[in-house]
Amino acid sequence: MSVDKINVIWLQGQGCTGCTVSLTGATHPSLADLLTGYIPQAENIILAFHQTIMLPHGEKAIDVLRSAAKGELDPFVLVLEGAVPNEELAKERGGFWCLVGEDEGKDMTINDWILKLSPLTAAVVAVGTCASYGGIPHGVPNPTGAKGLLDFLGRDWRSKLNLPVICVPGCPAQGEWIAETLTHLVLTARGILPVPELDEHHRPVFIFKKTAHENCPRAGTFAQGEFSEKFGESYCMGLLGCKGPISHCDVPMRGFVEGLGGCPTIGSICIGCTEPEFPDPPFSPFFRKAPPGVFAVEAFKDIKGKIYAILHRLKPRVI
Ligand code: SF4
Ligand code: SF4
Repeated sequence: MSVDKINVIWLQGQGCTGCTVSLTGATHPSLADLLTGYIPQAENIILAFHQTIMLPHGEKAIDVLRSAAKGELDPFVLVLEGAVPNEELAKERGGFWCLVGEDEGKDMTINDWILKLSPLTAAVVAVGTCASYGGIPHGVPNPTGAKGLLDFLGRDWRSKLNLPVICVPGCPAQGEWIAETLTHLVLTARGILPVPELDEHHRPVFIFKKTAHENCPRAGTFAQGEFSEKFGESYCMGLLGCKGPISHCDVPMRGFVEGLGGCPTIGSICIGCTEPEFPDPPFSPFFRKAPPGVFAVEAFKDIKGKIYAILHRLKPRVI
């Protein structure tokens, strides 16, 4: 596969465009860095289709998808933002949920485009929790039968580069997570980086290895048993419903835009937006405390850490 130029086809299903807004706020690297070749060896990335920020519209825009379906844009990375609805349910009600133009005289749903383009793509990236696992549209009672790409294409699905669906969840996904993952895949396609290691939910480990709790600047107060009892206090937010110990996310440490923001860092709680069950229990009701077992596990880790610290101090130090 020639990887001189790499096209990105960014489709949008049942979403709020929040992940697109998030990507446009990324700074290290930024969307402009990616598209202007600022990063050595990750140049020649072309955003061929993105219905929110592309210049062409109408037939000219849909022509890009038609070209991709004919193999004229190879190699390309297929990105999905938003969940995939069950169009059979919509048909029963005489309509559709997500229509994206026409092809060969046929109305094309988002499902049709995914099924048409996915066999041709170098990699598939599900951006945001909706695209990854269903997210908000998939929440109970899920009236549209929404699901994420991991379910829609299947865990065993593989791209032309033999990659499974890669999930960058978050509601929205943090902008640099998206930019870094796309950059990583371009470098993988060019043989510069190995395939990114993924966790059991297909998230890149280099981003999602640690929990929000492990990355939280308030974790020291948790260890000291100091808890905020109302919003505005500077201690651990566990009593106010924070789900940081069961949510994999580096936003409390990295921030959301230019290092600023970050849920518990700035006085909000973590609602677990990167997890497959979000927005259903155990993450909702959002302001209900996480199950006691979660905090018992974290408290046990803290006690273990303190015992290790004492034992290490007893060990003679060799200089
Ligand atoms: S429970 Fe939440 S606020 Fe408390 S330390 Fe963990 S992530 Fe931070
Ligand atoms: S800290 Fe929690 S709510 Fe905030 S972005 Fe991370 S997982 Fe989502």
